Formats: sequence, structure tokens, C-alpha cells
Amino acid sequence: MLGKLLLTTTGVVASYIAYSAACPISQNWGRGFHRGPRGSRQIALTFDDGPSESTLDILAVLELYGISATFFCCGANVDRLPEISKATVVAGHEIGNHSYSHPPLLMHSKDYVRQELQKTQLAIQNATGKQPHLFRPPYGLRTPSLTDIQSELDLTVVLWSVIGQDWHFSKKRIVQRVTRRIEPGGIICLHDGDTTNLHADRRETIQALPEIIETILEMGYSFVTAGEMLQQLETKTDNWRVHKRGKQKILR
Ligand SMILES: [Zn+2]
Repeated sequence: MLGKLLLTTTGVVASYIAYSAACPISQNWGRGFHRGPRGSRQIALTFDDGPSESTLDILAVLELYGISATFFCCGANVDRLPEISKATVVAGHEIGNHSYSHPPLLMHSKDYVRQELQKTQLAIQNATGKQPHLFRPPYGLRTPSLTDIQSELDLTVVLWSVIGQDWHFSKKRIVQRVTRRIEPGGIICLHDGDTTNLHADRRETIQALPEIIETILEMGYSFVTAGEMLQQLETKTDNWRVHKRGKQKILR
């Protein structure tokens, strides 16, 4: 009987942790969102793990279509390639925090997580003169300490509704995977880097990008940054509800 109770309790705790850490709609460990308003014909393009030597090629494609995107950068990469981060902002794109060294945050202490985020805020501020307000946790995995740290650093978590898995798929598979999953208010996650590795090979992503953009435009969508999408969520009260503790607005 006791053994069965322990097994059940362990299962409930494991399910709670899995939901809080990895489920896009969870608000248990900090404020976040993974899509925009369902009624909008807008899509947000986001890129993770940069800046890298491939970022400028991605910026060139975005410029060709007149699109602004959101780049979730690793602080270590920003410190290595500050000019590319600066060029990203000068080109009209948004920069978010993606931790300093791309660790799975769930495995680390609160002090370590705070340091990862603070160092990245500083790296981005030094390179671009801008202080990020958006954060994407590495691997999309959150941790309990993020609730406090997000408040301290004024960061909102942005996850995604469509992930291209462009770190291992070919151009054709990336295009298929992304365009088949497009819905109003979608947030697409692609990569302009490869964690903190040097010389990330993002050729498949760069080649897939024009077809992804053209298909989405043909479907009647326009592109916004993740920050612009968040502003729309905040003004559309039907997408939000007051947390049961009465302190925090959360996404439904
Ligand atoms: Zn990443």
C-alpha cells in the first residue's frame, strides 16, 4: 500500500516537473508565451543560438523580403561576435536572451541561472546598446528559479509553436515541417547558430528561408517580431486571465 502511494506520488511530481519545465502553455515557473493572438494573420520568425558566422547571410535574406525577426542570442557568442549583434539591431531586428553558454537550466542552481542570464544581458547591452526583455531558455526547458530571475531582469519567456529542427534536417524537410504547421499567431523557431560552437553550419536553414517566407506570405500572413506579438497579447485581454493568486497575468 505504502509502495503504491509512493509510486503514485513520484509519478505526480514527475508529471508536474515535466509540465512546468517543457510544456509551452505552462506558467508555473515564470511568465511566458508560445504564440500570438489566434485571430491575427501574423507570424513571428525567431532564430536561436547566434550570433554566428551564418547570421549575416540570414540578415541578407530577411532584408530582401523586408522582414524583421527576433534573434535569441547566447551571451558567449555575442562576446565573440559583437559586430554581428550590432548589425542585427541596426538592420531593425530584435534581440533576446538565450543564456550565456546554452546549458539545460533545470540542472543548475538559482545563482548559476541568474549569472547565465545577467551575463547575457550585459553582453547584449555592451554590443548593441539595447537591453533585452525577451528570454528563450535553452532547449525550451524552464526551471523553478526563473520565476524570480525573470522578475528581477524584466524578462518574458518566448517559446514557439513551430520548430524547424533545422539543426539536423535538409532544406526540403525544414521547409515542409515549418510551412505545414503554420497557424495564425504562430512563432517559428529556426537557428542562426549552433549552441556556442564556432563556425556553425546553417546552410540548410539559409537555403530554406526564402521558400518558407514566400509560402507564408502567399498564405496571406505578415511578419512581426516576438516583442510586437507580445504587445498585441497584452492589449487583447481575451487572451489573458488573472492568475489565481491575483498577482500575475498569464496566457490562457
Ligand atoms: Zn538554443
